[in-house]
Amino acid sequence: MDIRNYLSNSRKRSHKEVASDSDSDSDSTSDNESVMPDPRCTQPAQLVQSKSDKKKAYKSKLTYRQQWKLKYSWIDCANAEMGMFCVICKKYGKPPGNARGAWTTRGITDWNHATEMLKLHNDSKWHKDAAITAQMAQQSDLSVLELQNAASARDTKERKKKNQAIILKLLCSIYFLIKHRIPHTTTFNDLLALQVANGDEQLAHHLEQSPGNAMYTSKFSLTSLIEAIATWLRRKLLKSLRESPFFSILADECEDISTQEELSICCRWIVDGQAEEHFISVLHVLACDAETITEAIESFIASSDLQYRKLVGQGYDGAAVFSGCRSGVQVRMRTHAAHAVHVHCACHRLQLASIQAAKTVPEIQKVFGMMGNIWKLFYYSPKKMQALKEVQAVLGLPELKVVKPSDTRWLSHERCMRAIRKELPALITTLQQLYETTGDAEAFGLSTLLSCFTGVASICFLSYVLDTLAKMMLPCKGR
Ligand SMILES: [Zn+2]
Repeated sequence: MDIRNYLSNSRKRSHKEVASDSDSDSDSTSDNESVMPDPRCTQPAQLVQSKSDKKKAYKSKLTYRQQWKLKYSWIDCANAEMGMFCVICKKYGKPPGNARGAWTTRGITDWNHATEMLKLHNDSKWHKDAAITAQMAQQSDLSVLELQNAASARDTKERKKKNQAIILKLLCSIYFLIKHRIPHTTTFNDLLALQVANGDEQLAHHLEQSPGNAMYTSKFSLTSLIEAIATWLRRKLLKSLRESPFFSILADECEDISTQEELSICCRWIVDGQAEEHFISVLHVLACDAETITEAIESFIASSDLQYRKLVGQGYDGAAVFSGCRSGVQVRMRTHAAHAVHVHCACHRLQLASIQAAKTVPEIQKVFGMMGNIWKLFYYSPKKMQALKEVQAVLGLPELKVVKPSDTRWLSHERCMRAIRKELPALITTLQQLYETTGDAEAFGLSTLLSCFTGVASICFLSYVLDTLAKMMLPCKGR
């Protein structure tokens, strides 16, 4: 605790506590007696003085005591009205001074708490540093100013080192949250509290002792930390990308939840003979026409200091805006890099071809429709989901959730079909139970479809086909 804290705390203490503290001090007891008013001089009117008036009168007579100098040789008190100073801090303390110049340019006159303040100052880091400088001054030829500067530099270095360690811990914590997609603004302080509870004393000291504007736990600080991580990662990736002899661009646009058009950019390049693919940037675009998107990609290439001569490939979806052979993005990009081969994303094409092919077979269409209906039935009803979980527990099956099949989410059909095939006995039992207990017509229809020969055969057949398709898509997705 520094003197400022002590002073603010001491003001809160009751007069009773202060009086008892003074009484308990053995040094002060004898001295108190010497400054007590003489009862013979007391006027009759003062005999009826209240207790608080007496206490005020007693305090006003407190002053400097010579015996303090015996214990603390550094005290300088030529005049009790000017207060006590510290000889060491005055001469060797680092400028500009501590606690608004207390002990150096401003004397201590709070005689009521002097004993405690003397002890606090004697144990303070400030005073100890000055004492070290004084000792060094005796042993070296350096001037006081040079010694003070050396002490300041040493102090700054230590503080910098401590700050770096704290910032590193905060960065690791926020990185953990964003990496695991955990909401960081609401969870960050709890994560720090957990680390403190697990015995991180350095972090605990930082959170307890740092002033409010240097805690680095506000939302603004968190955003700054995340931006710092993003900047560092992007810089590292772009450095590697610039060093590659060739690279290609993958881009796609979509609308975010605030209905703003976003263009995401991934790049694929060579590192030590191996291809690497990373998400690099997301850009806001005002429109999703070919001209605007091309300008966004051009500005990305320019700001990243990439060279068009190294651009050998560009991959987009099949939309005319991107892949159009007259004025699509791919044609416009070729004006800068004529050799940048355009590739319609293989996964996308495979998915489109699979969906198109499935539409020509009524049985498969029926199974795809059934998959969607099963997902809807359980996803929107926690009660039905609970019934499924209970049946899964009784049958000893793993607790698998039914996945939503989506035409634009590659591999979702395969994951959904895999879950249905694994949970088939539990699904049929649950759907039959639901029909028997609640008369749910949809549950009855789905259970009939799942338990008939055509349904089971279609599920087994599609499991095989979708599994093969997934194996073809995964290498294209770089997994
Ligand atoms: Zn001192």
